[in-house]
Amino acid sequence: MTDACIDAVAKAADLLAERGRILAFTGAGASVESGIPPFRGPGGLWETVDPGFIEIDRFHREPKECWRRIKRVFYDFWGKAKPNPGHFALADLQKAGVVFSLVTQNIDGLYQRAGATDVVEFHGTMDRLECERCAFSAPVSKEILAPDVPSCPRCGAALKPAFVFYGEAIPEDALTRAFSDARSAGGVLVVGTTGEVMPACHVPVEAKRAGAVVVEANPDESAFTRSIVDCFIPGKAGEVLPLLRDEIMKRICP
Ligand code: NAD
Repeated sequence: MTDACIDAVAKAADLLAERGRILAFTGAGASVESGIPPFRGPGGLWETVDPGFIEIDRFHREPKECWRRIKRVFYDFWGKAKPNPGHFALADLQKAGVVFSLVTQNIDGLYQRAGATDVVEFHGTMDRLECERCAFSAPVSKEILAPDVPSCPRCGAALKPAFVFYGEAIPEDALTRAFSDARSAGGVLVVGTTGEVMPACHVPVEAKRAGAVVVEANPDESAFTRSIVDCFIPGKAGEVLPLLRDEIMKRICP
């Protein structure tokens, strides 16, 4: 880790520990060190895979073909990922009551696997399947994924992963909770997101408008960096967040 990064972590810890009531807002970059690529940008999934298989209209038209790809990308490949030290650091800060709201755009369930209990999943989750017709919902298992098109045991319709497909709305409860938590946050810790995905990218902006201080950790600048960020930490989530957790805890419980 560079000296600039270590200095930025110290400054960020001062700001966040002083304000308290931290909302963490994370994106695809937070899971890169767990082996899950982002969707867009260099090395992103969409460089090699056509995203059409997670468009909702296409899924309705061609469930068998879409499910074939969904299983390969999300369940065979992402399903094997494990939380990295960044996920554990945020889960620890939540357990300590320092992070009061953990809002993620990610669908991979890795914060829960790291011990977090209350995660606002803005784009839903791949860990459950749901029925669009009768609202049946169940955790993912080998058995439920076995047929070519997993089907609802209650009404027989095709099941879909409980994450937001292109063309679908954000789940109402996550939307309401994320924005109301943003309005009451003292500080926001933005991790691993370009800040370009709507409407999620408005969450840190809403917090800033309501008076929160904003810290960002990302190896590269994002749309937030020069607009709303008070302290930018130029580094990877898995390296920066454990150090930031320790520095915040030192200041809160010396
Ligand atoms: P994004 O907008 O979330 O941006 C990825 C960001 O991660 C970039 O700013 C990049 O600089 C940063 N980054 C790369 N490596 C990092 C690291 N080690 N530590 C910290 N930051 C790092 O990316 P996207 O993939 O285009 O996102 C679109 C949406 O797709 C997301 O909002 C999310 O819902 C979804 N998505 C989820 C996952 C997941 O669940 N793991 C993965 C890909 C995409």
